[in-house]
Amino acid sequence: MRIGHYSVSRLIKTDVLVIGSGGAGLRCAIELFDKNIDVTVVGKCKKGDAHTILARGGINAALGNMDPEDSWQLHAADTIKDGGEINDHKAVELLCKNAPKAISELAQWGTDFHKEKNGKISQRFFGAATFRRACFVGDCTGKAILETLIKQTNKRNIKIEEEVYIFALLKNKRKINGALGLEINTGNIIAYNCKILILGTGGHSRVFNRSSSRFWENNGDGIGLGFDVGAEFMDMEMFQFHPTGMVYPKEALGTLVTEAVRGEGGILTNKDGERFMIKYDKKRMELSARDIVARANFIEIEEGRGTKHDGVWLDITHRYKKDILKKLPVMYNQFKKLGKIDITKEKMEVAPTAHYSMGGLHINHENGKTSIPGLYAIGEVTSGVHGANRLGGNSLAEIIVFGKLTAQSLIREIKKMDNLVELDKKLINVKCTELENLSSTEGKDPIYIKEELQEMMWEHVGVIRDEKKMKKGIRLLELLKKEKLNTGLEVKMNKNLIAALNIKSMLIASEMILISALNRKESRGAHYRTDYPYKSSDWKKNIICVPKRNAIEIKFKSIPLVPKTISKLMNHKFEYNKKRHMLE
Ligand SMILES: Cc1cc2nc3c(=O)[nH]c(=O)nc-3n(C[C@H](O)[C@H](O)[C@H](O)COP(=O)(O)OP(=O)(O)OC[C@H]3O[C@@H](n4cnc5c(N)ncnc54)[C@H](O)[C@@H]3O)c2cc1C
Repeated sequence: MRIGHYSVSRLIKTDVLVIGSGGAGLRCAIELFDKNIDVTVVGKCKKGDAHTILARGGINAALGNMDPEDSWQLHAADTIKDGGEINDHKAVELLCKNAPKAISELAQWGTDFHKEKNGKISQRFFGAATFRRACFVGDCTGKAILETLIKQTNKRNIKIEEEVYIFALLKNKRKINGALGLEINTGNIIAYNCKILILGTGGHSRVFNRSSSRFWENNGDGIGLGFDVGAEFMDMEMFQFHPTGMVYPKEALGTLVTEAVRGEGGILTNKDGERFMIKYDKKRMELSARDIVARANFIEIEEGRGTKHDGVWLDITHRYKKDILKKLPVMYNQFKKLGKIDITKEKMEVAPTAHYSMGGLHINHENGKTSIPGLYAIGEVTSGVHGANRLGGNSLAEIIVFGKLTAQSLIREIKKMDNLVELDKKLINVKCTELENLSSTEGKDPIYIKEELQEMMWEHVGVIRDEKKMKKGIRLLELLKKEKLNTGLEVKMNKNLIAALNIKSMLIASEMILISALNRKESRGAHYRTDYPYKSSDWKKNIICVPKRNAIEIKFKSIPLVPKTISKLMNHKFEYNKKRHMLE
């Protein structure tokens, strides 16, 4: 089939199509393959180069190797407390109960976690965790995990399609039965026909101009694809700003400075040398929850106590050089290479950066189902596990745990299903025509528009929000939606076309963030409004966005009481043993 510049060159039939070759997608595909399910994975980047490789500091599991008092229930209590109590409790239970198994499986498959002298896997502190719970491979835990998963997929010869950009989902009647992908290097279109489609496309932190992701990732593709077929979204206003991103040099703006630096004893000070966390969380200091530390850093800078490059200082120089090199090798090299700074001798300059999307597709975590038949989701593209704020180390646990659980729940279902439902040719035509219509030699450079959108989002619905700023943000967004994009006519390796596809999804994600944030008239977790600075019991609910023709409808979801076994631990005052932490 040929439409304008594009032709559908291949049809690939598979029982399960997984979009996304990050940690969630790969773990899911391995489980499906092991249960004899025909699975194909598609990724827009090269195999092994998914965003998951950026994950630094660790993966949480209550192993109790360092602190035997730890338990899955305490892990759940920390997760719900830090999540502003709007998490999906069932999802949290599944995460915390299954995380220890996920770690032993990864270790068995070859992830070389740091070990103590007794041979047990080491665990480090992460912000707002009651005990040391994050297992790690130096400060490149995500890379080590993804390499393990790639090895396992290679061993099984699982089909992974590289550098294919999925730009549309397909359905027949109301059920999803395929997708269309643009082969980036050739400009050819691939049609996928499947029984079940799983989105594992990651987050949308790149809607902000300071982001810890690489510029070509985390553009919210899964959000755009899901929205297009009418799927529901939840907690879109909940976006995590990491307290510590690089601020200098300009090219490094937003690049993550892992929480492990604070986990290893890093101290924050302002330009006057004041250890300011004492004003914001006297007890937990630098190891307070991410939202609290991010706001503290932001306020210090806003109120004029920031450094020359609008940051605050993060200092780890009091630790032995050999410890820094062993536990934070990536940070050492990152600052040496990008900032010409030796972190064993000099302080780092840091400020908040957009980091993690707590909001996303509204799913049932017991089986990964979205609100649309045939469409499932896993990993950062989903919502619910982390509520209003994510605990560091919980995302890697989430992608491994739910990658596997979703696959397991599908196995029974898929065996009951009939043959593949044929693709709707008319719909393919419509979607390819939409792609063709993006070709244009008029309008503005899409990369420039992308930057405009990112700046608007940082300015109007960033770390600190209020009604006036957000309403203005919505008006600006409406103008950006109308911009004509000059993508050129090239079909192969066309960066501007990819940027235009990114923008489509980013606009949808941004609109849902703005509308949800404007609706939530309180401050909770990562969502902080100066006009409603306190948490309100009336708002202990989730905001759901439902796509309607040319509009987004808002619904609310009430939240049941936290199970007693967990809630009693949320109120328990455990002794926070700083001495033990510093001696590690
Ligand atoms: C700098 C940094 C450090 C972090 N450190 C930690 C940490 O220490 N601990 C922790 O728990 N979490 C950490 N996180 C978060 C964690 O890395 C992510 O949440 C997690 O890796 C997400 O995995 P995922 O599989 O859901 O998505 P991703 O790894 O983002 O994978 C998404 C996949 O989808 C593909 N894709 C997207 N759109 C399309 C499309 N249209 N067509 C085809 N393919 C597509 C991408 O190419 C990619 O393969 C960190 C994040 C960052 C940015």
